[in-house]
Amino acid sequence: MDVTQLRENQKEAFNIIENSFRRNRLSHAYIFEGDAGSMKFDAALFFAAKLLCKHDEAPCLDCHDCRRVHNITHPNLYVVRLKKTEIVKDDIRGLQSEFSKTALEEGPKVYIIEQAEKMNAYAQNALLKFLEEPLSETYAILLSLDADKMLPTIQSRSQRVPFHRLSESSIESMLLEAGYEQTQSKLAARMQATYEDAKTFLNDVYLDELIDAASAVYDALANDESALVAFHREADGLLGDKEKVAYLIDVFIHYQKDLIYGKIKNQSQMIFAEAVDTIERLNARFPMSHHIDILERMLTIKVRLRSHINVRLALDNLMIALDKGEPNEE
Ligand SMILES: [Zn+2]
Repeated sequence: MDVTQLRENQKEAFNIIENSFRRNRLSHAYIFEGDAGSMKFDAALFFAAKLLCKHDEAPCLDCHDCRRVHNITHPNLYVVRLKKTEIVKDDIRGLQSEFSKTALEEGPKVYIIEQAEKMNAYAQNALLKFLEEPLSETYAILLSLDADKMLPTIQSRSQRVPFHRLSESSIESMLLEAGYEQTQSKLAARMQATYEDAKTFLNDVYLDELIDAASAVYDALANDESALVAFHREADGLLGDKEKVAYLIDVFIHYQKDLIYGKIKNQSQMIFAEAVDTIERLNARFPMSHHIDILERMLTIKVRLRSHINVRLALDNLMIALDKGEPNEE
């Protein structure tokens, strides 16, 4: 749970939560609604820690209670997760029986239901009964992509808290803070929709291979060598894997955009900061119209990837167009 990022990226939700605590007007049920990757689960843990931490400035994020909330090992915190395709009545029953155990500690109890819109009708009805008899100091946090898919009676008993999709720059700064390198963070933030996806992507080692392959092609061009030859030397091993090819084209697109940003002196948008020398040399050699033509070809290949094109041939043609330095009819 990253409270600083939460406060910065989800101001509205953060303020609603803070205000209900400050005014001592907590609702027994909340619906945290928003896109995947919008920090809803972090916010739910923050809410739980605020309730369960016994320090004045809760959550202190350092005490035994806060740590157990963070690790989801606090006995007064229960998380219902989707196991198969829907959340069923037994999942809600499990929650109820857990909360009736004597092993619980004194004080508030919190349960979080992830993907709450995946509760089937029986589960929703069981939950509704649970909500209708609010045990003192028991709080429900329902996380949802779309709260309208839940029973109106559940919706009306809950306070809705809106979460918004994180911007690319927010994802990028979170990745940087987590220790990833700059170029990798910038690329992953642009190529993936959520922070979690971006992190998974960066942990799947091969992004560096893609960057190396694209860099080798542009370096070759900048040195008056053949892009086509460099491409086959560096990228041949990647072409057998559809997913890698799709990402490789994305990396090329971002590199090509950097050439354009370099031309218009918009350095702040550039991703490959360490390639500034190559980019300057290529910009001295090729006109803007050529960069745009190549970018268009790349975008076309990206679209046509879905329709079983011959990828090798399409990429060979792209490399030949790069080598020729002028628009080339396919
Ligand atoms: Zn604490």
